Amino acid sequence: MQAIQSAQIHYNDQGTPVSDLFGDVYFSNESGLEETQYVFLRQNGLPERWLQHPAEFFHIIETGFGTGLNFLLAWHNFRQALAASPAMRCQRLYFSSFEKYPITHADLTLALTQWPTLAPLAAELLAQYPSALPGCHRLQLNDGKVILDLWLGDVHDSMPQLSLRNQADAWFLDGFAPSKNPQMWQPELFSQMARLSKPGCTVATFTSAGLVRRGLSEVGFQVKKIKGYGRKREMSVGTFAAPASAAAAVPATGTAADIFIAGGGLASICLALALVNRGQKVHLICKDKEIANGASHNRQGALYPQLQSTFSAVSALHAHAFGFARRFYQRLHKQNFEFPHDFCGVLTLACTDQLALRQQKISQQPVFTETLLQPLTQQQASEVAGVTLPFPGLFFPQGGWIAPQLFCQSALTYLLQQAGFTVSFDCELHDAAFEQSSGLWQLKTSQGLHQSKQLCLATGAALATLPMASKLPVNLVRGQVSHLHSEGMAGLQTVICHQGYITPAAVAFSGQAEHCVGATFDRSRQQAIELEEDNAANLALVNKVLQQPAWFNDAEVISAKAGVRATIPDHLPLAGSLANKAVVFGGLGARGLLFAPILAEQLAAELCGEPTPLPVELAALVSPRRFEQS
Ligand code: SAM
Repeated sequence: MQAIQSAQIHYNDQGTPVSDLFGDVYFSNESGLEETQYVFLRQNGLPERWLQHPAEFFHIIETGFGTGLNFLLAWHNFRQALAASPAMRCQRLYFSSFEKYPITHADLTLALTQWPTLAPLAAELLAQYPSALPGCHRLQLNDGKVILDLWLGDVHDSMPQLSLRNQADAWFLDGFAPSKNPQMWQPELFSQMARLSKPGCTVATFTSAGLVRRGLSEVGFQVKKIKGYGRKREMSVGTFAAPASAAAAVPATGTAADIFIAGGGLASICLALALVNRGQKVHLICKDKEIANGASHNRQGALYPQLQSTFSAVSALHAHAFGFARRFYQRLHKQNFEFPHDFCGVLTLACTDQLALRQQKISQQPVFTETLLQPLTQQQASEVAGVTLPFPGLFFPQGGWIAPQLFCQSALTYLLQQAGFTVSFDCELHDAAFEQSSGLWQLKTSQGLHQSKQLCLATGAALATLPMASKLPVNLVRGQVSHLHSEGMAGLQTVICHQGYITPAAVAFSGQAEHCVGATFDRSRQQAIELEEDNAANLALVNKVLQQPAWFNDAEVISAKAGVRATIPDHLPLAGSLANKAVVFGGLGARGLLFAPILAEQLAAELCGEPTPLPVELAALVSPRRFEQS
C-alpha cells in the first residue's frame, strides 16, 4: 500500500487555495460557497430532494475532498433541512469522499477560516480529521446524523473497495480540470460510478469537457450541459438510468427492525448503540445479572493497534480500528458518557531482539505518520513513561486506557433512555432457528420464546456453545489481571506493554490509586476464577522482562479479576453473517476495546442496508464465512 502524500498548497491573489502539484484552484475565485451551492447541491436537486427522499438516509459520493467545502456545505444544508422538517423520513446524510492528496490539518484549519457561516461545522470536522493513513476513515458528526467516509488514496484504488451497500443517490464529481488531472478522469472512474449508482441517482460536475460527458453517458447516465456558475459558460449534469440487472443488485434499505442481540459485553453494547442510533428496535439479552461481566469486565484496558512488520491488510484493519475507536470514545465522552479513561499514550517496549526488529520495520513504513506512532530510544521511552525502562520502544501517542466495564454501564444508561431498546438480564439464548415462511427467527431463551427479524450472536466465550455457531473455531483463553498498589509507580504516565501490560494509576475503582498489571494467558482452564498463582505470575513477568525495576519494588496486589476470552486461530475477529443468516460478532480476544466500535458500525450498517465503513478486503478478513468455505 502506497503512503499518502499530503497536498502542497499556496494561496493566489484572490486568497483562493491552489494546488502546487496540479496548478489549479480548489474552488472558484469569485465565491467558493456560492459556486458549490449552485454546481453541486442545486444541480443535484438538493436540498429539496431530501424532503421527499423515501429512505432513511441519503448518500453522496464525491471525488476530491480537498478543503471539505463541498462536504461542509452539504452538511450545512442537510442540517437546515432537518431543522425545518424534523419529521422528514431521511434522517442521515452519508458523504463518501475520495482524496489522494489530503490537505494537512494545519492547512485545512487555515483554508476553512474564510467561511464564518460554516465555522461550527468546520471545527467539528477538524476535531476528528484523521491522520494520513490510506483507507477509509469514518467520521460520525452532528450526533451521528452526518457520516463522512473519507477514503484516502487514489480514487482508482479506493472505489473498487466500496461494497454495493455504498451505492450513491448523488455524485459530486469534483477533482481538478480534466486537462490538469487526466489521470483521474479515466474510463475506470465512470464504470465504478455505474456500479455504485442507485437507479435515478444524479451527478453534477463543474466541467463540461467532452470526455467527461461521453464517459458518463457510456456507462448509463443521461447527461446534459447547462449554464455554469458565474463566468463559467457551461457545466454538466446527469441522471443514472439503471439497467434492470444493476437495479436488482441494489440491496434493500432500511429493512432491519427488531434485532435481537445475545450477549452483554462491549461487542453487544457497541452494536446496540450503532443500531439504536439508526432508529432500530433492539432487544439485548445478557446471561448475567449485570452488563460486561465476561471478558469486558476489566478495570483498565489498553487501546492501541498491533501492527505487522510489513504493511498488510491486518495492519490496516488494526490501524483503522484504532482511529475509529479513538474518535468513538472521545465523541461519546463529549456527549456525557461517563467512563474512566486516559488517552495518555501506549508505549510498546522492544523487550526482545525480535520485537526490536519488528518495531524498526514498523516505524520505517511510510504509511504510518508520527501522529500514529513514534520510535523512542531507551532514554526517550523512560522520559515519556515517567519511570526508568531498560528498552527502547514504539509509542502510540493517541493510545491510552479505557475502563471497558464502566464504559458499557454508561452506554447502557444511555440506551435505556432511548425508545426501542430493551434489555433482559439473567437471560440466556439456548437455541434459534430461522423460519423461512415468516422470515423471522424463533428464539429459545431461558426466559421463554421470542421472535425477531435479525439475530446477532455476541456471546463472547459462550459463542461456540450455540448450535448455530458451533462450527466456528473459537478458543477459550482464561486471563487474569492483578490490581496493584505501589508508591513507586506513582510517576507512571503511559500504558506500558512489555509481554504483558501495566497501566498508570486510576482512583475510580477502589477509591485509592491502583494500577492494572496483566494479563495471564491460560488455555488450561475455562472458568473465570481468580488465582493467587496468577498474581504471582503477573508480578514475576514484570520483574523478569523489565529487569527488577526499582519503581516496582513496593508493588502489592490488592485484588484481581479473571475472565475468559474468545479468540480465533487466525487472531482476527468475527463480524458478519453466517450462511444460516445469524450475524456473528465475536472472537475479539483481548482486543474488544479496539475492534468493537468499528465492527459494530460495520454490522449495524450492513443490517440496515447503509454504507459500510470497511473496504471489501477488510470486511472479508473478519467475515465468519472464512470458516464456512470447505
Ligand atoms: N471538493 C473539494 C472542496 O470542496 O474543497 C475541492 C476538490 S479539488 C478541486 C480536487 C481534489 O481532487 C484535490 O484535493 C485532489 O487532491 C483530488 N484528487 C485529484 N486526483 C485524485 C485521484 N486520482 N484520486 C483521489 N483524489 C484526487
